[in-house]
Amino acid sequence: MLEVLRKIVQEVSLAPDLKSVVDMLVQSIRQAMQTQVCSVYLFDAEDHSYVLMASEGLNKEAIGSVRLSAGEGLVGLVVQRAEPINLEKADEHPAFKYLESTGEERFSSFLGVPIIHHRDVLGVLVVQQKEQRRFDESEEAFLVTLSAQLAGAIAHAEATGSLGSIGGPEKPQIELHFEGVAGSSGVAIGQGVVIAPPADLNSVPDKPAGDIDREIESFYAALEQVRNDVREVSLSLAKRLRSQEQALFDVYLRMLEDNALAGEVVERIRKGLWAQGALREVVLEHVRKFSMMDDAYLRERATDIRDLGRRVLAYLQEANTRPTEFTDTTILVADELTPAMLGEVPSDKLVGLVSVHGSSNSHAAILARSLGIPTIMGVVDLPYTKMDGRELVLDGYSGRVYVQPGPELRKAYEDILRDEREQAAELQTLKNLPAKTLDGHHVPLWVNTGLLADLSRSLERGAEGIGLYRTEIPFMTREFFPSEQEQRQTYHSQLKAFSPRPVTMRTLDIGGDKALSYFPIEEDNPFLGWRGIRVTLDHPEIFMVQVRAMLRANEGLDNLRIMLPMVTSMHEIQEASRQIGRAVLELQEEGCNIERPEVGVMVEVPAAVYQVRQIARLVDFISVGSNDLAQYLLAVDRNNPRVSDLYNGYHPAVLQALRFVVREAHKEGVPVSICGELAGEPGGALLLMAMGYDSLSMNATNLPKVKAAIRKINLTDAQALLKEVMSMDDAEVIQQLIARRMAELGVSQRYLPFIPG
Ligand code: PEP
Ligand code: MG
Repeated sequence: MLEVLRKIVQEVSLAPDLKSVVDMLVQSIRQAMQTQVCSVYLFDAEDHSYVLMASEGLNKEAIGSVRLSAGEGLVGLVVQRAEPINLEKADEHPAFKYLESTGEERFSSFLGVPIIHHRDVLGVLVVQQKEQRRFDESEEAFLVTLSAQLAGAIAHAEATGSLGSIGGPEKPQIELHFEGVAGSSGVAIGQGVVIAPPADLNSVPDKPAGDIDREIESFYAALEQVRNDVREVSLSLAKRLRSQEQALFDVYLRMLEDNALAGEVVERIRKGLWAQGALREVVLEHVRKFSMMDDAYLRERATDIRDLGRRVLAYLQEANTRPTEFTDTTILVADELTPAMLGEVPSDKLVGLVSVHGSSNSHAAILARSLGIPTIMGVVDLPYTKMDGRELVLDGYSGRVYVQPGPELRKAYEDILRDEREQAAELQTLKNLPAKTLDGHHVPLWVNTGLLADLSRSLERGAEGIGLYRTEIPFMTREFFPSEQEQRQTYHSQLKAFSPRPVTMRTLDIGGDKALSYFPIEEDNPFLGWRGIRVTLDHPEIFMVQVRAMLRANEGLDNLRIMLPMVTSMHEIQEASRQIGRAVLELQEEGCNIERPEVGVMVEVPAAVYQVRQIARLVDFISVGSNDLAQYLLAVDRNNPRVSDLYNGYHPAVLQALRFVVREAHKEGVPVSICGELAGEPGGALLLMAMGYDSLSMNATNLPKVKAAIRKINLTDAQALLKEVMSMDDAEVIQQLIARRMAELGVSQRYLPFIPG
């Protein structure tokens, strides 16, 4: 049965549109389960009913006309209960509704299973039989499994179908929206530009062909280059392979001929799609067809086709004479947004970011916040390859992406955008005023940096220091490890720009969701794996070069602090500290005029929370990385949109840990700062100030908002708020209380999103 299941799922993913998906589904299920009827009902948002979309066995006239609302008839009951209903005699059930047009009175037994996606009932799968019998457990289990596996594909097909296609027949432009995770707040209105990693077939965007003849020409040129490559490899291996194996190369060459893949691609280009998009469609369709074959040898050919497709794509991309065009209001759309991609768009043109993968604490989102670019992460249902050139509206407060917005929605968001600009201008007046409470308590507000653009933004907003410089960011935008000299220059620009204010440089923190293309780390569980200090202690040559570069950059400035990430055990601090000491000695011996700088540790692993007093005795300062600390305390991957609702910095357990760290470290007389995102939310910042944090480090965008909140409150009132919060046991309730208090102070914790309708 597993094989049948796999085949149906693959068939569905192969179907070009929703109609084919549902037609194929009812046929395959009826055949697999040997039933007389199989039908699919899907939700129609326009009239809030479930429509019979396809059926094998019921009267064909009923398709498209039978509609049932939740609670109406047996199908409606499945929707209402969101669970399977399995009946021997359907017409005797009180909820049974006789629908003449379907002709279903002939069928006695009924099994209906809901299709659920993200907790919403998208539709219902129904099988029926004349024979009076209950469908058995294995049949029910089969349908439930199938429905769970298909829900995503159906949602995707629905969304893609409503969009209309580029280069295809004109379809009406329908306003659509997709839910994601708020990554960086704010509103953006602009045009989608899809950005794809090189030679990745899956993420090639749809674009119109433009000059059709030229597209065909460049496709044939790429094809010829791949043919030459195949012939070359074949020749070079000729002596080592048996003739049977050698014949495989002829198979590859035939696959590329006009009466095979090439012909189909050209046909699609003629219909108006650009060569890369046409290639993607044809290759992926064939890959799916082959991987569904029963014969193991033929199934294997799917890999060959994909490989050939990738090679042709690489040549097409190399020869692409159409550089990506960025409009003045570009919204970058990617399958997986990476920090390096942010740099690909001229900064004055980039207004928003959308990523299918990742969540609000992914590093791409953190950087977007530091640049103040509205961002939506984890929009898992977005057919992103179809977003190129589409008009988009991003609501970075609620995490919604609107595609092809209507005039009313657009106008509403234009109004919010104008309000935002006015508020930002107002906050700018605080630049030179101190971050001091009404009763005179001063909390230094520092910034988190990583990108070059952060520097000027931070200074403009009146930052008093850098609490976290993520040194891995400049490493990520390169093709190999930067030399000591290059690193020295990069670090010097940070130290100099902020001198004499403190600059806290974190040693390389790669791993997790921060990869270096030239130093790949493959792990099943990267957030629990080789990360941060674990990597650098295993590679002293990388660590030493970095520390030496930092120390040399600090010569004559003396505002450097070195910080160690992802520390779990005391011996890691001792070892790193010993190496820093060695670097200092080496440089002094080489004649540099340097002193050992302050060295601190990030507390971002629960183990470090419990050993914080011992840690404090070894270091000059402590900084809490609440992004990771929350991830590890709550056992929620900060990068996974599926569990993003569970990631909450206001969880009582997180707040308890944060208070514990500051109290314990202070017992050893060691200053404590915090550089997680919580410090950049006005409500979070007030709680942290009340806990006794000595400084707060945040993205430059939010600094003025946090300063405004601090300037409007007495420390004693913030302490009273903290007391109230610490007595509560639910993160949601805590957040509501904070939002209310912030509103009373006249500070927006987060803006209220506009939800139309
Ligand atoms: C943290 O974990 O809170 C932190 C500041 O470091 P990063 O977000 O870079 O992991
Ligand atoms: Mg961290």
